[in-house]
This record gives sequence, C-alpha cells and structure tokens, in this order.
Amino acid sequence: MSDKNYSRATFDEVMVPNYNPATIIPEKGQGSRVWDQDGNEYIDFAGGIAVTALGHNHPAMVAALKDQADKIWHLSNVFTNKPALELAEKLTSATFADKVFFCNSGGEANEAAFKLVRKYANDNYPDQGKNEIIAFKQSFHGRTLFTVCVGGQPKYTEGFEPLPQGITHGEFNNIDSLKALISDKTCAVVMEPVQGEGGIIPADPEFARQVRELCDQHNALLVFDEVQTGVGRTGNLYAYQGLGVTPDILTTAKAMGGGFPIGAMLTTDKIAKSMGVGTHGSTYGGNPLACAVSNAVIDTINTPEMLNSVKAKGARISARLAEIGEKYDVFSGVRGEGLLIGAVLNEKWQGKARQFLEAGWSNGVMVLVAGMNVVRLAPALNITDEEIDAGLERFEKAIASIA
Ligand SMILES: *Cc1c(COP(=O)(O)O)cnc(C)c1O
Repeated sequence: MSDKNYSRATFDEVMVPNYNPATIIPEKGQGSRVWDQDGNEYIDFAGGIAVTALGHNHPAMVAALKDQADKIWHLSNVFTNKPALELAEKLTSATFADKVFFCNSGGEANEAAFKLVRKYANDNYPDQGKNEIIAFKQSFHGRTLFTVCVGGQPKYTEGFEPLPQGITHGEFNNIDSLKALISDKTCAVVMEPVQGEGGIIPADPEFARQVRELCDQHNALLVFDEVQTGVGRTGNLYAYQGLGVTPDILTTAKAMGGGFPIGAMLTTDKIAKSMGVGTHGSTYGGNPLACAVSNAVIDTINTPEMLNSVKAKGARISARLAEIGEKYDVFSGVRGEGLLIGAVLNEKWQGKARQFLEAGWSNGVMVLVAGMNVVRLAPALNITDEEIDAGLERFEKAIASIA
C-alpha cells in the first residue's frame, strides 16, 4: 500500500455518492478503541453496525485468519471444506436448524430465505397461488431488489420500479393487523426479533407467539431475520431463544464474521429439501477464510459467561444513557435488548439523530443512528466496563456540546 494520506474529499471524487461517511478516517483498532489516521482516539459504541462483536484485533479471530491464510483461501461450491463443515455443525447444534446455506451478507441470506419460502410453497402446495410474503412496516432486510421490497421502508424502493410482487406489510407488534393480511395464499411471514434499522423496536413476546400460531394455522413459514440480533447481541446466541418462539428459517450475518464478510440461512431438513441441487448458489458462500474466522467468533461468543455478560453491560449503558437523556432533556426513552440499544429522541430533537453522531466523533466516541429519531448503540459484546464508562463520559460531553 502507498504512504499517501487520503481525505474525505477523495471519497467524493472517486466513490459513488450513495454514502455520506464521516470526515475522520479510522486506521486501526484494539478492543473497543479505534484510532484515526491523525492519531485521535475513539471509544467504539458503533461496532461497525453490530458487526465487530469481539471488538477490533481480537487474538482468536486474528489467529484463525492467519492460520487459514497459510492453508487455502477459496474453493467455490464445486468443493466443500473443513472450516465450512465445522461452522455448519456448530450452528446446527446450537440452534433449531438442521441445515445451513452460506453466503456473504445479510441481504444475501434474506434473498435465499425469500426465494426458499416461495419454492417451498410451490413444491408443497402446487398451483394454489401460495406465494404471498407478509413483512412489517419499518423493517429492514437488505438492499437487493427483493429484500428492499420485503423491507417495510418505502424510501428504499422508490425509483427502482418495477418491483417484485406478492409482498404486503403489517404493523409490527399489532396482531390484528397481521390477522387481516394472512391467508392460505401466504407462504411466509418475515420479522426481525428486534427491528434494528427501523428504530430498535423489540418484538413483544406475546406478539411473536401469536405470529407463530397464525403461521401454523395457514401453513406459512416463519422467517426470523436475525442479521442484526444474532450471535449474542441480545444475550442469547440468537434472539429467538430468548423470545421462546422458534422460526422455520433464520438468517444471520453481521456479527457472525466479527468483521469478515459472511452470512448464513438456517432451516430444517424438511424445508431445506426445496433447495435441491442447482436451485440457488453463491460463488463465495462457505469461503474457508470467512468460515475459519466465524468459527472463532462463535466459539468465543457462545459461552455462558459471554452471553450472560451482555445483558448486564446493556443494562449499565441503558441506565446511564437514560440519566444523561434526562439531564440534557434529549431522550424520551431508552429501549432495546442486550447490547442493541436505542435512545429515542424527544419532541425537541425530532429528525436530528445525525447531530448526535457527529458530536460524538468530535468528542472521541462512535455511536450510530437508527432512522432520524433514534441514536443507536451496538458495541462489541466484550466491551469492558472501563470502555463503557469512558465512552459514556465522552458521549455526555458530546450531548452537552449540542444541547
Ligand atoms: C444489516 C441488516 C441486513 C442487511 O445486511 P447486509 O449484510 O448489509 O446485506 C438485513 N437485515 C437486517 C435486520 C439487518 O440489520
């Protein structure tokens, strides 16, 4: 690599303008601390959008990557490989699932799931027009054309017409709304156990239970998009385990690779049969480097100590955030599950979430937004109490600077 120091201006010159990144350019990280190319330090409450679940430069991940880098990088689906088989065995033994399909992102995992629910209905209920997918308003399922359509945010489909058909949206946490939409034409209901991008809105357990019941009554599959909630984020390996409602298909990505791109769709033997040889695929899916890293991530996160610590750390952050919100009169409440936390802006601050993000950068702390009215925190699951307290102190300064 060259020694040239780049700036945000270069981004505007050479990148498609679909993002609006910060002017600071991070260069290295250790645990939940990050340094930019000018040497400024930040506490990372953003976690690469719920991805770097073990923080930066975690020794187990680095060792797994280096070890695999010396062996073999890529084979394609013409061959299988040990890291992929080991990871699939791990995921199936830790969940309801019997079978795994590997891909490279959350959007791809959902694309596979949404294709599979159509195919399964076609195979098992032929010629009955059983092809309708019901999802929920404000939901987010990825950026491919099919997944933006299943997602419940019209701003992501506008201008991309003609759109895939057979998709409707109910109101999240409103079972009557789903009752009005579901029928024997429904092939699947899709939901996030906690709506992430939509504003950190946890599913009411009773709502989730009734969704499961309605799906069973109408022979519709239940798909949980756990791309953001999965791999320990809520204090369970997967959020469905805490909700007590088991889906038929689960998608996972983000934290699964801890920063290395990987995603997966998990399902049962019965449903997996509809994805026979040649029906779907991905060149990189099950890539040995990605799977080797993911094995290290799952091994490190799926321990009682790590999972139990998530709720305690989440509570520590939420309590302090609520205090800060009260002191400066900026939040109407703090909600979420485990280390997926949303501070909801009050009336006075509607539409201004990005100001909090930017004030954070100026004060040495990285946070996220979820929409325009919620400040989101999704730190590493192994963040220390020292890092939490230092980061919140900086975030309080950030808020003081704008409030
Ligand atoms: C981030 C996210 C996705 C999309 O994942 P990509 O890896 O960006 O394709 C899908 N669903 C949910 C719930 C997400 O949070």
